[in-house]
Parts: sequence; C-alpha cells; structure tokens
Amino acid sequence: MNCKRKHIAIIGAGASGLFLAKKLSESPGMEVTVFEKNRQTGAKVRASGGGKANIFNRDVRPEHYNQPAFITLLLQQYSPKQLEHQFNDWGLVTVSDEEGRVYPASQFSQTVVDVLTDFTYDNIYIRTEYNIQHIEYRHDRWKIDDYPTLFDTLVLASGSPAGMIPKNQRLYNGYLQDLTLKTNNLQPSLAGFRLEDYPKSLSGCRTKAIASLYQGNKLIHKEPGEITFKDDGVSGIVIMNLSAYYRRLPSTKNCRLEINLTYWNENFDTETYLRNNRDTTGLLHPKLAAFYQQKPFDLHRLAFQIEETYPLEGAQVCHGGIDLSEIDSHFAARKYPNLYILGEMLDVDGVCGGYNLFFAFASAAIASSKMM
Ligand SMILES: Cc1cc2nc3c(=O)[nH]c(=O)nc-3n(C[C@H](O)[C@H](O)[C@H](O)COP(=O)(O)OP(=O)(O)OC[C@H]3O[C@@H](n4cnc5c(N)ncnc54)[C@H](O)[C@@H]3O)c2cc1C
Repeated sequence: MNCKRKHIAIIGAGASGLFLAKKLSESPGMEVTVFEKNRQTGAKVRASGGGKANIFNRDVRPEHYNQPAFITLLLQQYSPKQLEHQFNDWGLVTVSDEEGRVYPASQFSQTVVDVLTDFTYDNIYIRTEYNIQHIEYRHDRWKIDDYPTLFDTLVLASGSPAGMIPKNQRLYNGYLQDLTLKTNNLQPSLAGFRLEDYPKSLSGCRTKAIASLYQGNKLIHKEPGEITFKDDGVSGIVIMNLSAYYRRLPSTKNCRLEINLTYWNENFDTETYLRNNRDTTGLLHPKLAAFYQQKPFDLHRLAFQIEETYPLEGAQVCHGGIDLSEIDSHFAARKYPNLYILGEMLDVDGVCGGYNLFFAFASAAIASSKMM
C-alpha cells in the first residue's frame, strides 16, 4: 500500500490559512506546513469585531460584495449555515446580534484562533516568523524560499496590506512577482472619508445620522449609523460601508457625502423646530450645534465633497487584488497546477458586518473539499 503523505504548504496563518489547516488536520494522509511572517497567528481575526471576532454574518447576500456574480456561485457551494455548523462541530459556540453578525459566545476573538489551531491529527506544522519571499514551480512540486521540503500543493493565503503601515505595504505579497497573475490595483476599502472644506471644530463629535453617498445627482448608497468626526473627515461603520460603494465606482470624481442629522425621523420638521427654539442646542450634538451657530446648514443635508478615503493603513480591507479570472470555482489557479488562492488576496471585498471573514473562511472550506 502506498502511504506516502501529500505535502501541502500554506502561506499565511490568518483567517483562510488557519481555517484550511484546521480542515486538513482531519486528513492524516496530508502533511501541512503553514508559514506565517508574524510571531503570532490570526492577527486580523483577533482584531475583528473590536476584539470580539465578528466571524461572519447570517445574512450573506451577493450585493454585500464588489463581485456579486462570483458570490452568487460561492453561496451555492457554501452557506453561512454550513460555516456555523462547521464552527459548532469544532466546539465553537456562536451567538449573533440583531443584524445577523455572528461572534463566539466567549465574545473574545482569541477563542476563534484557539479553536482553529486545535488540530485533530498531528499533521500540521506552523512555522511562525517565516516571511516568504520567493516561490517556484519546479519538477511538479512547489519550492518555497530555501525550505528543504518540496510541496505537492501550495496555497496562497497571505491576505492584503490593509491596516498596515506604509513601509510594510510596499513589500506585501512580494513573492507574487514569481508568478504571472492578473492583479487589480490595491485600494483602501472600509475606510473613512477625508472631506473638502471640513470644519476641524467638529473633531471628536460622535452622532447618529443617515449618511448618503452621491455622485453628482445620483444616490449611490444610503445607510443609518453612527458617524465619528475626525480632524479632516469622518469615520465609523456607516462611513466605511459608504467607502466600499465609493470604491466600486468606475470613477470617484464629484462624490459627495450628505448627512441627515434627524435620523429618528428623516422628515422631521426642522423649520417648525427652529421657529419655536432659538437654536439647535436641544437637537444636535454640542459641536454640531456650535457649527450650526457659525454657519447654518440644512439639518437634513449637511453636505461635503469627498476628497478621498483615508489611506490603506486605516482601512479594514483592500479593494483589488488577484483577478477572479485567475481561479476556478474551487479557488484553484487556472495557470498553475496544484496552486490555490484564498481570501483577501483575491479581488473580493465586502461591507462591514462579518462579510470579509465569511469570504475568507468560505474560500478555504471550498478549496479543502477539492484537496481532501
Ligand atoms: C482592524 C480590522 C478589523 C476587521 N474587522 C473585521 C470584522 O469585524 N469582520 C470581518 O468580516 N472582517 C474584518 N476585517 C477583515 C478581515 O479580517 C480580513 O478580510 C480577513 O482576515 C482576510 O483573511 P485572509 O485569510 O485573506 O488574510 P489574513 O487574515 O490577513 O491572513 C493573512 C496572513 O498571512 C500572513 N502573511 C502575509 N504575507 C506573508 C508572507 N510573505 N509570508 C508568510 N506569511 C505572510 C499575514 O501575517 C497574515 O497572518 C477586519 C480587518 C481589520 C484590519
């Protein structure tokens, strides 16, 4: 009987890499080496959901992503329900909030990383502080830097430079230069907006509102939520979501943010209110009320031209990445044998709420079904 083990390498011990390793640990016929450049694994999983790990959303729909057609096909193969069953099978108890965001019951992101690194068989080796620089396909195997093992299968799961300082962004995923893969320009998504003619005096104000993104006269996206005013622009989940729609525009010229401050009633009669009251003190956050005093504005439409999003270092995900034409429906590369590409390295990004981690985990689950 031929009991030769299949050697698999995974570059990146983040969401998709760890999920795949956990899945492959159920197959003792495989020997899996996971290379991770950091000392610790799963950094972005630990950062997600404000440290609570918002691992997916129960309501995943194609329109939550920049690639709805691809997500439609993905959902036919793997659903949020399957992901939840998988996590529950692995012992992770999950809970969700009213917006379908799923968290570990522990409300502590390290629990997710601990579950993902609790391997079934002793066939997974995690090599931390291993920053892969070069890969090469040689004699039907994959060679990784000067690592002594040649691998039968290579999985690229090294994410994106979103959230990184500029110095580290430049070198991110540098090993991809050894392959010829069509890659779309990386740009920040799920980031705040820097605004034109913006009053610095609003810095530090946080308020609920309905935020709308317009291009010219066209409404692109509208959503209620909490806005954080910064020195030169705005942030908060609702703004980050608007930034995802902003990124999907073929051109970002002439984009405007409109903030309706009467979120509890979009059509609140501000004229009557202002006739009956001296100012907006009883209506607005004090910083907004002071700004109104200086320069009155329409309370339904506090408008600013958008200069740009904040840069990559303040973004939660990257828009762009490896073009989807490079992979098949199982995330296997079309041009190279025994190569898989997972998660945020691909040109897929979703809005806030667990959609990006869902994509990372689902890509790993689907790829594993072909590998096992
Ligand atoms: C602050 C923050 C909060 C977020 N919150 C949420 C949230 O609440 N919900 C949600 O769905 N998404 C969230 N995201 C996005 C989500 O975390 C990512 O989309 C997801 O982790 C991508 O998974 P991945 O496996 O593709 O990459 P990652 O999880 O980023 O994993 C990639 C791994 O590869 C390693 N690596 C990179 N290059 C190399 C190399 N050359 N050699 C070896 N190792 C390498 C990295 O160190 C990293 O560990 C958040 C992101 C950030 C930055």
